[in-house]
Amino acid sequence: MSLSLLPNGLVSIVDVSHAHFEHLDGPCERIRGARSILEDASPQDVLAWAARIFDRRVALACSFGGPSGMVLIDMLAEIDAKIPVYYLDTGLLFPETYALIDRTRQRYGIEPIAAHPSLSVEEQATLFGPALWSRDPDSCCEIRKLAPQRRLLSDYEAWISGIRRDQSPQRSDVAVVESDTASGLTKINPLASWTGEMVWTYIRAHDVPYNELHDRGYPSLGCTHCTSPVKAGEHERAGRWRGFAKSECGLHR
Ligand code: SF4
Repeated sequence: MSLSLLPNGLVSIVDVSHAHFEHLDGPCERIRGARSILEDASPQDVLAWAARIFDRRVALACSFGGPSGMVLIDMLAEIDAKIPVYYLDTGLLFPETYALIDRTRQRYGIEPIAAHPSLSVEEQATLFGPALWSRDPDSCCEIRKLAPQRRLLSDYEAWISGIRRDQSPQRSDVAVVESDTASGLTKINPLASWTGEMVWTYIRAHDVPYNELHDRGYPSLGCTHCTSPVKAGEHERAGRWRGFAKSECGLHR
């Protein structure tokens, strides 16, 4: 039995031990069997399960532009610091985001993997015209985010994400463990049921580093050209791709 103290003071008593799944045969059956159980598990239990089931074949995606990924890095440091952390270095991230990556290196002794696009910003402009993000952000995200992630994840069987149901209407039904149709991998969202308040409670309690732009009106950060401050009453991703009917880069479907 695994016991974990949640930020809200509740104790998780979900059993994710080997014995719980040993009647299930292959990895696919174990993942299917785990889905309903892990829905109510603590994030730490979910991460421990992922580390055990996938061993070195799972990676954590962290944008360094939102607080949830930082919570997962902090939790993984206690559970399995060998699980790789990666980010999509579009070449268009905020200086504060790169500064946070540096602080994360120092705090946790990890080396986040940068997944780069095959085209530089200049090469993209030569091939597709200047400021593709202002005319066709879906194609820009495909080049600078989706394709690099596909290349990186080709070496893995699962990936971990910090997305939560309360972040936006589009994310309201994400499961803790799901099949990612885009990558063909298992996708694990340990914080799916957490609220933003729970994330910030954890960050303050554990003194977790976070992007300093969160204190200046940017609750969610992506590339500089596609991120704006959020007004009172808006959901935390409302500042992304403002002016477009686009709320996701395509990584989370
Ligand atoms: S967030 Fe904007 S600049 Fe970044 S890859 Fe997507 S469209 Fe391009």
